[in-house]
Amino acid sequence: MSHEALAESVLSRLGLSEANPAAATGDGHWLRGSGSFAAEDPSSARLLARVGRGTAPEYDAVVAAAQAAFGRWREVPAPRRGLFVRDLGDELRRQKDDLGTLVALEVGKIKAEGDGEIQEMIDVADFAVGLSRQLYGLTLASERPHHRMMEQWHPLGVAGIITSFNFPAAVWAWNAFIAAVCGDTVVWKPSPKAPLTAIALQRIADRVAAYHGAESVFTLFLSDEAAAGARLAADPRVALVSFTGSSNAGRQVSQTVAGRFGRCLLECSGNNAAIVDETADLDLALPAIVFGAVGTAGQRCTSTRRLIVHESRFEELAARLVDAYTQVRVGDPLDAATLMGPLIDPRAVEAFTATVTETRRLGGQVLAGGSRLTRPGHFVAPTLMRADNSWPSVQRETFAPILYVMRYRDFDNALALHNAARQGLSSALFTLDMRNAERFLSAVGSDCGIANVNLGTSGAEIGGAFGGEKETGGGREAGSDAWKNYMRRQTNTVNWGTTLPLAQGIRFDLH
Ligand code: NAD
Repeated sequence: MSHEALAESVLSRLGLSEANPAAATGDGHWLRGSGSFAAEDPSSARLLARVGRGTAPEYDAVVAAAQAAFGRWREVPAPRRGLFVRDLGDELRRQKDDLGTLVALEVGKIKAEGDGEIQEMIDVADFAVGLSRQLYGLTLASERPHHRMMEQWHPLGVAGIITSFNFPAAVWAWNAFIAAVCGDTVVWKPSPKAPLTAIALQRIADRVAAYHGAESVFTLFLSDEAAAGARLAADPRVALVSFTGSSNAGRQVSQTVAGRFGRCLLECSGNNAAIVDETADLDLALPAIVFGAVGTAGQRCTSTRRLIVHESRFEELAARLVDAYTQVRVGDPLDAATLMGPLIDPRAVEAFTATVTETRRLGGQVLAGGSRLTRPGHFVAPTLMRADNSWPSVQRETFAPILYVMRYRDFDNALALHNAARQGLSSALFTLDMRNAERFLSAVGSDCGIANVNLGTSGAEIGGAFGGEKETGGGREAGSDAWKNYMRRQTNTVNWGTTLPLAQGIRFDLH
């Protein structure tokens, strides 16, 4: 089947038409909005469909629906909330192939990665179902006789979820499924670069919600205007704003949310490095580095952008990388032989070209790639450059497949280079030296939220808490105890005795 024919049949099976709505109140009602914007296929720059532009009235309808639903949903026992998410996960299992294709069509990641993204949603759903029976609080030893102290976790409220284009499905699930079992309701503001995936997922959620009496637990608001996310950040009805995107936008969101004492969860930019020491197994390091740098065309927050190599292995690894880069097949993401699809849009191609030019001007040397490809769509060549860690272009996150390679002499120097970045998301060390490995993971090692040994920087599992430090924003999502972000903690003390002893031994006798 041709790319176009496949697109047409998948869009129609997922209920997407040529003109799609702008907002959903989560109870089966869809709102048109005012005007529309285009959803494009980055592989061909062809229009896929148009999507309604939500404005103030649709936004208010969506938030009001989520707020009203919260009043009901917080009283539903958490394990029953889990059943809703369980059925949602099963529906995703059934529609995984179509949804994976839609992700590939809309953002240009290869089909295997599109399917992988839907699998990640299914995994998060399974995790959230288990969690729905494990929202534990503590009981604490009171200093006063006949007193019991405990901590309870209560639902927080409406969670606003602002997502980036590059994981148009999974990032919503990381937040929404956990928030739902925690008793929150959700307003989703997806990237305007990936609205169709959001509409398809909302349609599925609506159907499952109707069966579970979970109407308006998940709602959707679409717009291509920057004001849309800003509106959510400023809205006091939104208890938590979970933002995934660039550090620049995240900074604005967090300042706005802090100004109204709301809660913010930030997942912002990465500038991830891998270190290859003198003992590294290059057979293992090479595919991990290439996948980390080239996978999703370098458009993952965890993409490998800097490679810090011991001087004794530098020439060998550089030569092997150049050879590997020439074998990376760039093209149609729906072709099974393709390893790298296009960038998301023309602006991303411009940023790629400008960054390569700037790095060259600073003295960088292109070892592989370095230019855009002359074919329809937003394609560039996977690019490998010798560069210096201190250069502004290297210090910036350019969302494109550019890997900067640099050499180091001793491990202290490697760690210093590694940590000399404004962002702190993911990191990797390739080594067979136990001391280097432990040091990398210690308090004086990697300063990132994720630190891996003998695997790459990208491709995290959902079971761990995901997120990073510094300009990455400090948030943690998905596994471990990330659920605590979506609930409010309450400390309770109960006096079951007949006297009123005060804490800290204070006496306050009334005569
Ligand atoms: P982006 O910042 O352009 O947009 C992200 C989202 O924020 C979109 O929904 C956008 O409409 C919205 N937005 C933009 N400006 C806003 C503002 N001023 N106020 C409120 N909302 C605003 O990012 P992008 O290009 O879609 O995604 C790429 C970026 O996301 C990269 O920096 C990448 O590292 C980051 N990212 C981080 C993680 C993580 O978990 N740390 C995951 C995925 C992507």
